[in-house]
Amino acid sequence: MSETSVALSNLGAIDAAHHIHPFSNMTKLNEGGSRIIERAEGSTIWDSKGKKYLDAFAGLWCVNIGYGRKEIAEAVAAQMNELPYYNLFFGTTTPPAALLAQKITSHTDGKLNKVFFTGSGSEATDTWFRMARVYWAAKGMPSKKQIIARKNGYHGSTVAGASLGGMKYMHEQGALPIEGIHHIGQPHWYAEGGDMTPDEFALNVARELEAKIDELGEENVAAFVAEPIQGAGGVIVPPDSYWPEIVRICKARNILLVADEVICGFGRTGNWFGHQHYGFVPDMAPVAKGLSSGYLPIGGVLVSDHVAEVIMADDFNHGYTYSGHPVCAVAALENLRIIEEEKLVERVRDDIGPYLAKGLATLLDHDMVGDVQSVGLMAAVQMAKNKKTRERFEKPDDVGTLVRNKCVDAGLIMRATGDRMLASPPLIITHEEVDFMIRTLRGALDAAWMEMK
Ligand code: PMP
Repeated sequence: MSETSVALSNLGAIDAAHHIHPFSNMTKLNEGGSRIIERAEGSTIWDSKGKKYLDAFAGLWCVNIGYGRKEIAEAVAAQMNELPYYNLFFGTTTPPAALLAQKITSHTDGKLNKVFFTGSGSEATDTWFRMARVYWAAKGMPSKKQIIARKNGYHGSTVAGASLGGMKYMHEQGALPIEGIHHIGQPHWYAEGGDMTPDEFALNVARELEAKIDELGEENVAAFVAEPIQGAGGVIVPPDSYWPEIVRICKARNILLVADEVICGFGRTGNWFGHQHYGFVPDMAPVAKGLSSGYLPIGGVLVSDHVAEVIMADDFNHGYTYSGHPVCAVAALENLRIIEEEKLVERVRDDIGPYLAKGLATLLDHDMVGDVQSVGLMAAVQMAKNKKTRERFEKPDDVGTLVRNKCVDAGLIMRATGDRMLASPPLIITHEEVDFMIRTLRGALDAAWMEMK
């Protein structure tokens, strides 16, 4: 036996001994051990025991073109041989970085014509955060520094990212949020809308932005940030009244609007970007994930002309060693070529997105399913104790975990956020795989419902 295969047979123990995982209680995790994922193809992943799963979560909302694309491996290998690394700091650029900037911005309807590259979504958050403040300072309004975000939003795990996110359990660790960040309500009608119609409720929560600006003083507010559709918060699709009102308020109050496209970007909603689905144009838009389909880490901030003009007039003292890394940029270029050539955005909009929505709708007859929501290939199944009254389970996290575990046992990877089951599959998922997903989820719901009775 070679040294490597000896090591692999013992991998669980090695991992437990030396590896701290993201967002994990390692003591508990190590009691059961980690699932070891070894191989993937299309929308399917295999673990070390040979068990296969339909990955209806595209890794972590990111493997848009599916696994196993040789074209990316080959393009990356060629770039590694040609120029494995160079920086963009001292008056230099590289062919992949320049071409990728052109390619990404070509999909923004001419509205966001510049991009600043980062290594991840969290770094993209930190980048626009600084850009927004630099922008107002350069325009002679340095007091415009406060940033408004949303409860239950997610914008990353760096100090600025976790602060802007509205996850209480993240704020509780590391004395967050940092100064200058404020949170308003989310357009989660099912959970919080009471007797209002979804549109009435969404207008109300949008107007919390106006109230917050009044409280802080317009002269002190730099920007508002939100995901077009909240992802990690539970795939919360805002009612139609929400975004037009947010856009109106940002314009009227002269504050920058930042659309966090880290999940919604690159086809997931059936448009290139989530803001296009809602028909508005942000001033800045952080991106990552689907930009390279997760094959290599890369992110960025798309910047509108009027912001870029101001930022570009002087030094912007910000950047990362791996900004626009040439090998990652090549992976992203090849990924975007595949999305274009295979018309995956159109496929999500016209074919597989509506097909998934139809499948999800069949679950509405289930005793435990209160609602289903989806835009393109971003979907949530809302579970409820009493679907008529929208009464929630006493321990929503436990219900989500129970259903999620039953899905995993049956070979389906979905994620649970509280009492919502989330899906975000590769854009290449087939009709048969969607059928399997709906069938398996129904089986998991049945089993969980029986168990809880
Ligand atoms: N913004 C959003 C909307 C996200 O969903 C995420 C990651 N899930 C991030 C930012 C942070 O991205 P990363 O994990 O690449 O730092």
